Amino acid sequence: LRVYASIDLGGTNIAGALATEDGTLLLERSTPTESHLGPMGVLDRVVMLVRDMQQTTGERPVALGMGLPGLIDLRHGVTQFMPNLPTNWRNVPVSAYLHERLGCPVYLLNDARMATLGELTFGVGTSVRNMLMFTLGTGIGGGVVVNGELVLGALGAAGELGHQTIVADGPLCGCGNRGCVEALTSGPALSGEGVRLLRAGQAPKLHQLVGGDAAQVNPRTMADAARAGEKAVALAFERAARYLGIAIANLATALHPELVVLTGGVVSAADLFLEPIRDELRTRVRMFPAETIRVEPSVLQDKAGIWGGIALARKGGVTL
Ligand SMILES: [Zn+2]
Repeated sequence: LRVYASIDLGGTNIAGALATEDGTLLLERSTPTESHLGPMGVLDRVVMLVRDMQQTTGERPVALGMGLPGLIDLRHGVTQFMPNLPTNWRNVPVSAYLHERLGCPVYLLNDARMATLGELTFGVGTSVRNMLMFTLGTGIGGGVVVNGELVLGALGAAGELGHQTIVADGPLCGCGNRGCVEALTSGPALSGEGVRLLRAGQAPKLHQLVGGDAAQVNPRTMADAARAGEKAVALAFERAARYLGIAIANLATALHPELVVLTGGVVSAADLFLEPIRDELRTRVRMFPAETIRVEPSVLQDKAGIWGGIALARKGGVTL
């Protein structure tokens, strides 16, 4: 059986895996990114990680699929814009650099799209052909699958589901637009509302849970407070979920996916999120039965990217 390698490059860690073509995991490894080393320093760490996995298993991968956090020129395997990696990652020839050192073809993809491919190929999406995925965290990323293929658009950058406008004059988003679903629903947006409630004296249970320390207010502590019966915090979750529900309903009306997958840190609060989202879908999707759209948490969770890299390597990259 052929062996494929996968790398998921994040701001903090580089995750890697080797798997056979039938999807059997041989080995998983990770190492700190050390992003201060700059692009070539980080890519040398990727080389070390892949060689280390090769040596440990005695298997040589025939191709590598790699996810990066940003915009990539997919035709040439060159980075364009990596907002979450410090130092200058513009025009780094990642594919060529790694190919030369690892001796196998290297296929790149945006990390959220790679996670979508992972969930489609090895996760909760294996039986569907039309799927949306939302990666919920510090930002909101995503991916769109139509007729079994990732939709990447003219520049390979399509699928930024977090940057659709939900509130016309809403809060400023990191992308420069106002009222994006990311600006309303991301981890920091939710935490900001939690801190506001804490300071306004409207969240006594949360106050007790974090010992009055605003720095400890995050989606996790907020979910604990909501489950302990903190009404105001539960409402903050519900409002965020409803905004996300509107975003999903907009796309669902256009694309009619069979499945919407949610992944990321916020999914640990799925019990607070899923019902308001489903309710919003029932309210806003009117042109066909909303019940035909399943909304499910990811099964691969933070491994979706790694599995997407295996799928990407096995496909021989994506076609634009
Ligand atoms: Zn935005």
